[in-house]
Amino acid sequence: MSAYLPGTLTDLWDLLEEADTAVMAGGTDLLVRRRAGKCAGRICCLERIPELRGVQEEEGVLEIGATTTLTDLLESATVAARLPMLHQAVRQLGSPLVRNQATLGGNMCTASPAGDTLPALYALGAQAVLLSRRTERVLDVAEFIAGPGRTALEPGEILARVRIPLPEPNAVQHFEKVGRRRALAISVASLAAVLRLDGDVVRDIRLAFGSVAPTVLRCAEAEAWLTDRTLTADNLRHAAGLVRSAVLPIDDVRATADYRRQVAGNLLLRLETYRP
Ligand SMILES: Cc1cc2nc3c(=O)[nH]c(=O)nc-3n(C[C@H](O)[C@H](O)[C@H](O)COP(=O)(O)OP(=O)(O)OC[C@H]3O[C@@H](n4cnc5c(N)ncnc54)[C@H](O)[C@@H]3O)c2cc1C
Repeated sequence: MSAYLPGTLTDLWDLLEEADTAVMAGGTDLLVRRRAGKCAGRICCLERIPELRGVQEEEGVLEIGATTTLTDLLESATVAARLPMLHQAVRQLGSPLVRNQATLGGNMCTASPAGDTLPALYALGAQAVLLSRRTERVLDVAEFIAGPGRTALEPGEILARVRIPLPEPNAVQHFEKVGRRRALAISVASLAAVLRLDGDVVRDIRLAFGSVAPTVLRCAEAEAWLTDRTLTADNLRHAAGLVRSAVLPIDDVRATADYRRQVAGNLLLRLETYRP
């Protein structure tokens, strides 16, 4: 296997001009696909390029380099304090060994409907910064994810970093993943929610569901129904019905579509615990 380890972006752009070159971050998805006979060709590793790694806060926005490992994210005090929802999603992803290798950018570029960081990134309004030799583009995460297993990346382009506007400190952040077991489980359904409450009245809410549609699903109907209503079990039950109508789940080895639809609605009911 030909693998390259550029130490600068300039060297990377030269290598990416060669046909049949894939970039690799932690390799926890790419090497599995390669062993299955997919993704032959040259591999260009991103791990030695310092600009692509690290967590920085600037003017209320957290910028996370694409090759920041999930372990590094868990160890970031800012992520723990200001983005508890992302912290929780990462803590439940894979195992410590996987998280030591796997990166945030790799999870996004794999664009799996079950990618555990994606619901939190949708709910937080994250943006993807894409770089090539000559261009820089910024896309909302929902535009970056083009479909199951597909992103908006063009040839010669990489995901450089992710921008996350930090929610107000008193915003509620909630993440829950349902899997078939407690550890090393691929999600059957998940919910990431960000809420702004005024007493027990919902003033603003963003709901992002994982594993219940080809890509993460923001449920606009349930968000609109809950806005300016109290966070009661009755209102959440009504919104859960809207969620069950909006999702587009599939049957697979982990769960049936019907089960996923039911669970997606049930996940919403949990928000009642945040009622003051
Ligand atoms: C045992 C095991 C358990 C797992 N459990 C989970 C789980 O619970 N939840 C979950 O969501 N995932 C899980 N995964 C999948 C995987 O670990 C994650 O998706 C991980 O975040 C991928 O990151 P990576 O750095 O290893 O990506 P890579 O394998 O390096 O890359 C993945 C894809 O993204 C592309 N890519 C990577 N970085 C960039 C970049 N910066 N710019 C452009 N393209 C890029 C690569 O070309 C490749 O196509 C698991 C994997 C294993 C092996």
